[in-house]
Amino acid sequence: MRERRIALLGVTGSIGRQALEVIDATPELTVCALASGSQPLDKLAAERGVEHVQVGGDLTDVLEASQPDVVLNAVVGFAGVRTTLWALEHGVALALANKESLVAAGELAVSAWKRGGGLLLPVDSEHSGVFQCLEGRARETIEAVVLTASGGPFRNHSRDDLESVSVAEALDHPTWSMGPKITIDSATLANKGLELIEAHFLFDLGYDRLDVVVHPSSIVHALVRFRDGAMLAHLGQPDMRIPISFALTYPERRATPVSTLDFSEALELAFEPADPERFPLLALAREAGERGGTYPCAFNAANEVAVAAFLEERIRFVDIAALVADALDRVDGAPAADLSELVGADEEARRLAAGRVATT
Ligand code: NDP
Ligand code: MG
Repeated sequence: MRERRIALLGVTGSIGRQALEVIDATPELTVCALASGSQPLDKLAAERGVEHVQVGGDLTDVLEASQPDVVLNAVVGFAGVRTTLWALEHGVALALANKESLVAAGELAVSAWKRGGGLLLPVDSEHSGVFQCLEGRARETIEAVVLTASGGPFRNHSRDDLESVSVAEALDHPTWSMGPKITIDSATLANKGLELIEAHFLFDLGYDRLDVVVHPSSIVHALVRFRDGAMLAHLGQPDMRIPISFALTYPERRATPVSTLDFSEALELAFEPADPERFPLLALAREAGERGGTYPCAFNAANEVAVAAFLEERIRFVDIAALVADALDRVDGAPAADLSELVGADEEARRLAAGRVATT
C-alpha cells in the first residue's frame, strides 16, 4: 500500500480518537489535516506535525488546502454535509462516519459521487458489514439487506417506563461506547432509521429491500439475503476500530489491535423484531426515506434539534419522536436542486422543531 494522506474531520470525537489509534498502528497512513467544531487542535497538530488545521467554519477550506488522499468525515450531524459533497465531487476517497450528511443530502451526494467517481467507504459498522457481504456479488442475486440494532438501553422498557427515563440512563449504551448524539439516537432507534436511509443511498436498494432486526449482543453487524434463500452475516466485536481500519486501508484489510470473538465462551446470538410502538422513530425514518425529496433532511434536522433539547433536559425522551413527527407533518419535503436549497430545508425543519421545543 502506498502512503495515504488522511484529512481527519472530527478528530476530537469518539470516532476521531479511535481513527488516530488506527492511523498510528498503520505505517502507511498519515494525517495531513485535522479539524474539529470548537475544541482547539494546536497541541495535537504540533505533536503530530500536521500543517493543515481548522476549528469550525466551512471545513472544505482545510480540504482544499491539504488535498488529502482520503477524507475521514467523523463530524457529527448536518455540519458534515459540505465535506461529504466535496470529497464525492472531487473523486477523493471518502471514509464516511457522518451518516447524517448522506441521509440529509442523499440525492445530491449520489449525483456528486457519480460525477466524481471516487470511493465511498462506510465507517458505520453495519454498512461496513453490508459492504463486505456484498463485495463481488452479482446484483441480481441480492434480495435484501438486514441491519442489526442493539435495541439500546431501553429495549425492555414499557411505554410508560419510557416517559420518565433520564439523560444519564439514555447515555448508558449496553454494547457500544460512542459520542452523545448517536448514543441517544441508539436509544430511540432513530440511529437505525438514519442507517436505513444511509443504506438506501450507499447500496442503491429500495426500502422494500431494507430491513432491521434487534440483536442485543451487537456481534452480527449486518446480514445480506440472497435469492436462493441463503444469508451472509458479518460478525465481530463491537469495536469501531475494525470498520475504521477497513475503510482507511481498503482493499488491504490491515491488522488491528482488536481481539477476535472467543468461542471458548458461550456466545449469545439472539434476534427479535423491533417494536414500532415503543420506538416510532424507526418507522418515521423509513417513511421519510420512502417519501424522498427533503423529507430525510427534515427528519435528520428535527431529530438533531430534539436530541440536543433532550440532552439539555428541556424535553422528555418520548418527546423526541413527537417533535420529529410534527416537523415532518409540516415541511413541504420538496426536493433540493442544490446545496443552498438543502440548507434551506434543513433550516426550516430546525425552526419548526425548535418552536415545538419551546412549547413542550
Ligand atoms: P462525537 O460527538 O464524539 O464527536 C463529534 C466530532 O464532530 C467532534 O470532533 C466535534 O468537534 C466535531 N464537530 C461537531 N460539530 C462540528 C462542526 N459544526 N464543524 C466541525 N466539526 C464539528 O461524535 P462521534 O464520534 O460519536 O460520531 C461522529 C459521527 O460518526 C456521527 O455522524 C455518528 O453518527 C457517526 N458514527 C459514530 C459511531 C461511534 O461509535 N461513535 C458509530 C457509527 C457512526 P468538537 O469536539 O470541537 O465539538
Ligand atoms: Mg451503526
